[in-house]
Amino acid sequence: MTVDLGALAANYRELVRRAAPAGCTAVVKADGYGIGLEPAAAALAKAGCDTFFVALLDEARRLRAVVPAATIYVLNGLHHGTAAGFRELAAQPVLGSMPEIEEWDVFAREAKIRLPAAFHIDTGMRRHGLAPADAEALAKGLKLLHFSPSLVMSHMACADEPDHPMNARQITDFRALAARFPGVPASLANSAALLALPDARFDLVRPGIALYGGRALLKGDNPMRPVVRLDLRVIQVREANKGDTVGYSAAQTLGRPTRIAVVSAGYGDGIPRASGSSNRQKGADAIVAGRRCPILGRVSMDLISIDVTDLPVGAVKRGDVATLLGEGINVDDLAESAGTVGYEILTRLGRRYHRHYVGG
Ligand SMILES: *Cc1c(COP(=O)(O)O)cnc(C)c1O
Repeated sequence: MTVDLGALAANYRELVRRAAPAGCTAVVKADGYGIGLEPAAAALAKAGCDTFFVALLDEARRLRAVVPAATIYVLNGLHHGTAAGFRELAAQPVLGSMPEIEEWDVFAREAKIRLPAAFHIDTGMRRHGLAPADAEALAKGLKLLHFSPSLVMSHMACADEPDHPMNARQITDFRALAARFPGVPASLANSAALLALPDARFDLVRPGIALYGGRALLKGDNPMRPVVRLDLRVIQVREANKGDTVGYSAAQTLGRPTRIAVVSAGYGDGIPRASGSSNRQKGADAIVAGRRCPILGRVSMDLISIDVTDLPVGAVKRGDVATLLGEGINVDDLAESAGTVGYEILTRLGRRYHRHYVGG
């Protein structure tokens, strides 16, 4: 697995350029979308990023060791009893329910310091986030709190489809709610909204997937550079006959004499089991000796078979590599073959890869 930190930094700078005059933060939750939280954050900080979002306090702890002075927001908010941990790390919870706000307020009152935190207002996701009526009430009683909001945010449900009617409604609702918190920076846009919905940019944008080279918008070109490359080791090249079957459940029957390259990786490394092939369904492709070659049969835990019959004899041998990501195959191609999204491919990248970080 090769992670191009130069491409990550270039993607960040491109998003900074597109977001301006809004400020650009970086979402590095789920181990930096699978590429490694620490190297990702270090490269982003070097590229000028000073505000990061993670999902969990444990992630904030790892992040703080890399970016001692940055602003860190924890999207999943204040889990019960963890306020002291936030204070110790100078990390800010994104408070998304009244019980969280009450707990943080009590902690701030007893600590006798005005610990900042963010407010998340729900405008359509119906997951973490304050009901708009609670946000209105909070805005009226802001002076009664023992802390100050540093950010007011919401999250879009359908930004990957810029024409979806829900986008305009969420932007309008959020604009009205954010205005109830004068002087507090506002943030709504994820990668897709940053790229395609200028009205959603407000003061700070929160891209994740676009930083890592994944597709943020369902349609159109992806302007971001790929960050992750996967080169899998070929451990054997073998011949099989027409009518033979390949892999578990004998799901793929060969329709011709076939040369198979067996590679040492599988779903235990996060390669989706659903990206295999069967008699009914084509699977993902890999690049072997410069050519696109299809996966044959089920993806096993540690092994994958690839059809290299169309390569010249001897073009691939034991010890060569098959490229599953890279050489024109991106995370979204692999995702599509498995009926999922690039986000899931990235965040499931396995722990067994030898990871090369380049360009950092
Ligand atoms: C994950 C997340 C983001 C980043 O979304 P992308 O689609 O990866 O750009 C932004 N905001 C919130 C609240 C998130 O959970």
